[in-house]
Amino acid sequence: MEKKSLNSQTIFVSEEEETLNWSEIQNNFEKTFGSEVYSSWLRNISLLKEYNDYLILGVPTRFFRDWIVSRYLDKMLEQVKSFKLSINRIEFKILEEGKSIVDEKFKNENLGKISEIKDSILNYNRLNPNLNFENFIEGSSNQIALSSSKKVCQQVSRYNPLYIYGGVGLGKTHLLNAIGLELQSKNNVMFISAERFMYHFIKSIKKNDMVNFKDFFRKSSVFIIDDIQFIRGKEGLQEEFFHTFNSLIEKSSQIIISSDRAPMKLDRVQERIKSRLSGGLIIDIDTPDLELKTKIIKQRLEDITNQFKENHNINEDVINFIAKESKTNIRELIGILNRVIAFSRIHKKTLNISDCKNILKDVFNQAKTITVDKIQNTVSNFFNIPLSEMLSQRRSRPLARPRQVAMFLAKKMTTRSLPEIGRRFANRDHTTVIHAVKTITRLIEKDEEMKKNVNQLKSLLLEE
Ligand code: ADP
Ligand code: MG
Repeated sequence: MEKKSLNSQTIFVSEEEETLNWSEIQNNFEKTFGSEVYSSWLRNISLLKEYNDYLILGVPTRFFRDWIVSRYLDKMLEQVKSFKLSINRIEFKILEEGKSIVDEKFKNENLGKISEIKDSILNYNRLNPNLNFENFIEGSSNQIALSSSKKVCQQVSRYNPLYIYGGVGLGKTHLLNAIGLELQSKNNVMFISAERFMYHFIKSIKKNDMVNFKDFFRKSSVFIIDDIQFIRGKEGLQEEFFHTFNSLIEKSSQIIISSDRAPMKLDRVQERIKSRLSGGLIIDIDTPDLELKTKIIKQRLEDITNQFKENHNINEDVINFIAKESKTNIRELIGILNRVIAFSRIHKKTLNISDCKNILKDVFNQAKTITVDKIQNTVSNFFNIPLSEMLSQRRSRPLARPRQVAMFLAKKMTTRSLPEIGRRFANRDHTTVIHAVKTITRLIEKDEEMKKNVNQLKSLLLEE
């Protein structure tokens, strides 16, 4: 089969097959988080079980878990990923609180049962029971995506494919997962990220087992694929996806797809695939407005109160503050809220705004870690233009706009002065930077597309 696109992907597979050396990872934690944090929290975590895409870690208490989840989980996952790329989730088991209290996630599914799941494709097909329609909160930014997702569940193959796109952390995976949960009792549901799809694809090629691979994916009656943008530039994978897609549509299987951008905006993807992806219903999810953010915070707080049977000490002022300050996406919003809750719990106090500002300093004050270089690279990748072109003196719009966006972000997200920024953009004058900032500020106000792009870029930069 196609050998042409395997170069970088082969590395990926060999990484997948490794098993983790936990003490090595612990060493890395110590380096990343510092010895104080390490010795008070992270040293006490044990690795209980390793799967290809997630880990189960043991922690002493529930509080311990909440604390770690709210403060360190993102970075921990990042670290673990650097050892084993395929890990995309960490779950916790509480070891000491009473004899049989286990994490909510394990209520229906004790560890003994989990360990029986073989390292098979099925293992990656697990739907997360916590991401369902009931706890997906509706707002103006996601209303249509939500109602279309529900409609697909009522009448399969009405919109085929259903294609949902939007920036990171806006609820795409949540919706796809909810659809899977809803349909799984009556259908053969396949839920997979494009990245995992590739993993199995490559593995099957290596094992000379393409027949099984094809069978496996083509027999589903509902095929849900997350983050399809991952197939960009991967020719062999696109070929396989195209055939899978066609054979599913032929037998009227429902296909649901998520992506970070509209089908026609997927560069380095074959035209015939883009046109297939555009053949059904295309819906976008936008960044949440204040109302939705507030609703999500309140719902979370209510859940916590119910779950832990304790009050949370978070008042209206703080809720409003968090909703206003968190600008990029819902994942970030929840992360911030978790930190605030953990802090209030550990100090047993009702927080005020200035406490919050302190707790969140590192979240809102990321300017220091974002460099002009990083912005330039991210922007040129995003618009798919070579960095050298973006920095060049050429004035054509396809280059000038991204250049201005990069300058705008450099001004907004770093502490560099206007002249400094100008210098970093091939020695331009600071007035050019001022002009860029003004232009982009104006465009963000009247041009939805520009607003979306800039928000997405901010998310990307903050995520890394
Ligand atoms: P994406 O796949 O678009 O990057 P996710 O689906 O992973 O985003 O969402 C990020 C986080 O935000 C998840 O924890 C998800 O449950 C939560 N979330 C997103 N949108 C909503 C919503 N409308 N209501 C409740 N939680 C949400
Ligand atoms: Mg996602």
